[in-house]
Amino acid sequence: MAASLRQALRAPAAPVVLADLDPRAIPQAPGHKEATKEATRADAAHLAELQRRLYAEATGGSRRRVLLVLQGMDTSGKGGVVEHVLGAVEPHGVHAVTFGRPTPEELRHSFLWRVRRAVPAPGMIGVFNRSHYEDVLVSWVRQLAEPEVVERRYREIVRFERRLADDGVTVLKVFLHVSPWEQKERLLARLDDSGARWKFDPSDVDDRALWPEYQRAYAVALERTDSDAAPWYVVPADRKWYRNWAVGRLLRETLTELQPRLPEPSWDVDEQRDRLLEEPPLTG
Ligand code: AMP
Ligand code: MG
Repeated sequence: MAASLRQALRAPAAPVVLADLDPRAIPQAPGHKEATKEATRADAAHLAELQRRLYAEATGGSRRRVLLVLQGMDTSGKGGVVEHVLGAVEPHGVHAVTFGRPTPEELRHSFLWRVRRAVPAPGMIGVFNRSHYEDVLVSWVRQLAEPEVVERRYREIVRFERRLADDGVTVLKVFLHVSPWEQKERLLARLDDSGARWKFDPSDVDDRALWPEYQRAYAVALERTDSDAAPWYVVPADRKWYRNWAVGRLLRETLTELQPRLPEPSWDVDEQRDRLLEEPPLTG
């Protein structure tokens, strides 16, 4: 058995065949549903503490931060992960950005423009709900860009992520692997629930018709952009409780390995204590 969840879920070497990876699998789950949910809450608390330390470290000048890139078909749970895994982290410690269809302004710039602006600051955990990968996935599947353009973007993405790593950003990319059957259930549930209906988009049904093309596009993206500097993980996502636990654990492992260190004060502790203790009485 792989020592870490990161090893167990790391994208396979090329050629990637997503059909060989079971969306219902639960590798290394600490138990079944209830036990796993409990473990997720415990991990979330650890994550909050690790982020506080990372933030503290950054106040001392460190540039280290973490960027979680979430990709997956509609209903795969990108939003759910942000809620369940990062909900315990202090709001100002998380920089969560959702990338939808590019606005006219964004379209006037290179595809990485809006992404560069969203890179988390030192000390933060950044989360991308969709990302620059849409520009090679949906662009290829829906033929929004010429194949040469998509090819060029792949090279730009690899360079961009390499540079992020050099600048202190620990990047982890997660593909939430949901099955078309589970997606259908979730879309039907959205339609039936008046409170969740706003999340339904008729284009989601159009995308289902392109399922094999999307799976192929994802496989190519994993093959072309998985690297030790910016690794891809495939998280089975048909079981929400497993998906949440797995992403939380991937983050916890990552931050634990970073071992964020509290900064050494640049002032003398005893001197500052004396100042406070010997302070004249305050008036007013
Ligand atoms: P959702 O995440 O379901 O709210 O939908 C966002 C939609 O925006 C999805 O259909 C994405 O494929 C689409 N989208 C996001 N980024 C891009 C992009 N760069 N080019 C084209 N479509 C995009
Ligand atoms: Mg959608």
